[in-house]
Amino acid sequence: MGEKQFGGGRMGEKGATGITEQLVELGFESARLKTGTPPRVDGRSLDYTKMEIQHGDEEIVGFSYLPVERIKPEQQRCCWITYTSNEVHEILKTGFEQSPMYQGRIKGSGPRYCPSIEDKISRFAERDRHQLFVEPEGWNTVEIYVNGFSTSLPEDVQFKALKMVPGFENVKFFRPGYAIEYDYFPPTQLQFTLETKLISGLFFAGQINGTTGYEEAACQGLMAGINAHQKAQEKDPVVLKRSDAYIGVLIDDLINKGTDEPYRMFTSRAEFRTLLRQDNADLRLTPLGHELGLASDERMERVNAKRQDVERIKNILAEYPVEPTAANPFLEKIGSSPMTEKARAMKLLLRPGISLKDMMQEIPGLKEAVGDSDILNLEQAEIQAKYDVYIEKEKELVKKMATLEDMVIPQSFNYDKLTALSAEARQKLAKIKPGTLGQASRISGVNPSDVQILMVYMGR
Ligand SMILES: Cc1cc2nc3c(=O)[nH]c(=O)nc-3n(C[C@H](O)[C@H](O)[C@H](O)COP(=O)(O)OP(=O)(O)OC[C@H]3O[C@@H](n4cnc5c(N)ncnc54)[C@H](O)[C@@H]3O)c2cc1C
Repeated sequence: MGEKQFGGGRMGEKGATGITEQLVELGFESARLKTGTPPRVDGRSLDYTKMEIQHGDEEIVGFSYLPVERIKPEQQRCCWITYTSNEVHEILKTGFEQSPMYQGRIKGSGPRYCPSIEDKISRFAERDRHQLFVEPEGWNTVEIYVNGFSTSLPEDVQFKALKMVPGFENVKFFRPGYAIEYDYFPPTQLQFTLETKLISGLFFAGQINGTTGYEEAACQGLMAGINAHQKAQEKDPVVLKRSDAYIGVLIDDLINKGTDEPYRMFTSRAEFRTLLRQDNADLRLTPLGHELGLASDERMERVNAKRQDVERIKNILAEYPVEPTAANPFLEKIGSSPMTEKARAMKLLLRPGISLKDMMQEIPGLKEAVGDSDILNLEQAEIQAKYDVYIEKEKELVKKMATLEDMVIPQSFNYDKLTALSAEARQKLAKIKPGTLGQASRISGVNPSDVQILMVYMGR
């Protein structure tokens, strides 16, 4: 924090010392990463009339698929947006000399995707303002998280600068922002089960592997736990593929490519985004969870019932006849071209801009024909119907990608002519000249989308 520097653990906890040295002594390689956090302020000291309100989602979607856990909060809390200004930036700059991140006193790489405010000011010098999200920390607290103002500048500089932000004129700090630096163990030292290559029975999960984020840590903990159990029970390892789950993408990226900056899971890192949908996570992964003894019979039965109900709904839609006279008033209302002859309900659903919910409301008899169904089942039937062609195409692609190792790239291949490749991929491919598409896909900076472009090209 500014020029103050001290060792410690998580906020309010003591540092854990000695473990890195022990692991290094055993032959592990370790490195440093850094991250920062914004100040936490007293929400009662802010003037929200000077900020733009940001409402929460109207349709709240839970993490859980179980109805008992899908309870909607009766009220939502909102966030607000405000902005920094040139004046704010000028004050912040007065502390740059003392910023440990900026000065290089902290040397590890920071998270590219949530840079500190001092990074933003110097990297995007042409911008005269940066957006700040003013986020309440919860229902039972007045604490506010100033998202976008991550900083390790001296406390007085943070305070002076923040006071110049509209709505923050009378701000009271609970805690200033700060940066931390920590050890990690490059994850190329792991097997796909998250067991270390070096020591049998030792598993690494979470920040120790170079990731940042709660979900990133949680999912690795789950997989390492599963695999530790499988190993102890002499059962087969459980490894999720890139086409199975985002967890599969994360672990595959970590182990094949390693990471030299805090790794965060983004949807853009996955090549099979049409398959890896949030709406079908239960259908995709519950059977495996149940097989492993993690998902209860009841949960599995629910998923099976959902699957059957979704098929039932799709079959009804594929059969249900719709007369032009019944549908045309609705089509006219939403600006879709009128029907000239009788068609099945499914055909109408495939038109852009037409939702199953609206159809069930507007087309006489359809609601009764479909009958009572969970809203998630209706949504699932609609998604599967509307995107069927794309989903099938992607499944084909998954099969094709499995044969990457057999696809030879000629040494003379001219990557420059493939302008669709990212500049970084083109550069690295030209330099490394991988022998097969499999090898190309493991080069850091060559993204799955680049591999797809190459594959389409080679497949010609
Ligand atoms: C300042 C800051 C702000 C962040 N903000 C966010 C955010 O807004 N959103 C987000 O998603 N992520 C955020 N992160 C990242 C996120 O907190 C971490 O990536 C995540 O908590 C890592 O979880 P973990 O379980 O791997 O490690 P930790 O949560 O660090 O847990 C490791 C545990 O192991 C214990 N331990 C260490 N050594 C030993 C030992 N020898 N024996 C026994 N126990 C030991 C430690 O005490 C600790 O409890 C932030 C991180 C920091 C530092």
